[in-house]
Amino acid sequence: MVFETIGQLGHEQVVFCHNKDVGLKAIVAVHNTTLGPALGGLRMWPYKNEQEALNDVLRLSRGMTYKAAVAGLNLGGGKGVIIGDPSRDKSEGLFRAFGRFVNSLGGRYITAEDVGIDVNDMEYVFQETDYVSGVHQVHGGSGDPSPFTAAGTLQGIMTSLHVRFGTEEVGKFSYAVQGVGHVGYELCKLLRAEKAKVFVTDINRAAVQRCVEELGCEAVALDEIYDVDADVYSPCALGGTVNEKTMPRFKFKIVCGAANNQLATDECGDELERRGILYAPDYAVNAGGLMNVSIELDGYDRERAMRMLRSIYYNVGMIFKIAKRDGIATWKAADRMAEERISTIGKVKLPYMGSARPMFKGRSRN
Ligand code: NAD
Repeated sequence: MVFETIGQLGHEQVVFCHNKDVGLKAIVAVHNTTLGPALGGLRMWPYKNEQEALNDVLRLSRGMTYKAAVAGLNLGGGKGVIIGDPSRDKSEGLFRAFGRFVNSLGGRYITAEDVGIDVNDMEYVFQETDYVSGVHQVHGGSGDPSPFTAAGTLQGIMTSLHVRFGTEEVGKFSYAVQGVGHVGYELCKLLRAEKAKVFVTDINRAAVQRCVEELGCEAVALDEIYDVDADVYSPCALGGTVNEKTMPRFKFKIVCGAANNQLATDECGDELERRGILYAPDYAVNAGGLMNVSIELDGYDRERAMRMLRSIYYNVGMIFKIAKRDGIATWKAADRMAEERISTIGKVKLPYMGSARPMFKGRSRN
């Protein structure tokens, strides 16, 4: 059963991690290491059963392979999940036990933060293994990735403006930003710095208020965001907001934001195309956070991270070119770009079996 599923999705390795004494039940999935070690966050979630946890880790790890490939990184795709309630089941022992399992993989999998996990949990993981990224800045890590994700999203917006309107002058256009949390707020800041008109919404009223008062954004009600007469829709909250119900309401010309899994289905991506709305694929646009943590492998350097973000402009532009070249929707072109890169590099490299060079220079546990 498991082999059938991982065979279909193309995973290399799935590891079930168990430590009864500390209550650890975790799964690590290494999807593909053709380009390099499999990097992907650790998620802690009260999954209803083991199958649900397995499905999630398989789906998410495969997604990381595509994201890293399109980002031009020498990284593969992996993910970890811990079955448990983050508000109740966390302990030092749990995360140190998980860290031990990560370490046993010898660098084939590098973990990081994801839903339900914070930097304090990662401190414990870091006690047991070097194969963890996004550790706190006091250890020489890269810290909060959100400003980088926002800056990368702006690069995606600029390419999209260029392709759709023939100019990338951000300030000439209007934006509807859904969700002004860590990434959305930073994006609004960047857009307002260019004097763009920015509409915002969020279930958190205080977050909206901050954007209105501090940045001069215009607030709209939660459901009204889909009707706003703006050039760009930037989902920065939840997935699945581009769907059959919302699309007929769009007056937008571009969809480009940081949220994961924006299209409810692949067909919604095709439908955007038919409606003449340019879709900048989410995992190419929101790769700034991943790029930022990837820099930690060579010794973190903020300047280098900021420079790397600019490649999102090129990557998203390349996706648009492939879409045109092959006469396909942009969501499909992103997948094709990833597959082409993995296939090409796969011909010149063996699967990743550990690194010959030292990783994570310039960090300490003191
Ligand atoms: P966050 O939790 O800080 O912000 C999300 C915001 O969306 C919150 O303010 C929340 O109140 C709001 N929200 C939730 N439901 C909403 C709704 N129905 N309508 C409007 N607003 C709603 O998360 P974040 O770190 O800013 O990430 C935002 C999105 O970007 C997520 O989808 C995340 O997976 C994705 N992403 C984030 C990063 C990163 O570096 N943080 C990297 C890649 C992708």
